[in-house]
Amino acid sequence: MGWLEDEAEKFMEQRNMSSITATEYQTRAAETAIFPKTKALEYLTLGLVGEAGEIANKAKKLIRDGADVEGYNDKLNQIASELGDVLWYTAMLANELDVNLGKVMEHNLDKLADRKSRGVIGGSGDNR
Ligand SMILES: [Mg+2]
Repeated sequence: MGWLEDEAEKFMEQRNMSSITATEYQTRAAETAIFPKTKALEYLTLGLVGEAGEIANKAKKLIRDGADVEGYNDKLNQIASELGDVLWYTAMLANELDVNLGKVMEHNLDKLADRKSRGVIGGSGDNR
């Protein structure tokens, strides 16, 4: 890494930011993808929903126990960690669908910006 990259890395660290790209994440996450490839879509979908469920359960317990519960901030960090698990399954599903994770992100932002510009960001409909 060069001087500029080092400085950028320091800048990001000081602000609790990361310089990893979606493509880099998608590529590196695939190095730990061990599952039956003949059942990839099913396996990854179940994994994604399972990890989202872990977030839901932890959030539910925080609602039950309130913000005064011992270790509240640790519990928030655990939820943040589960986001990483959701991201892993998301990235692997993108691989399975042969799409770039960054493109998925861009497409989503475009879709939401379009809805916002049309004043239909709330409500329901197709392609939610
Ligand atoms: Mg998990």
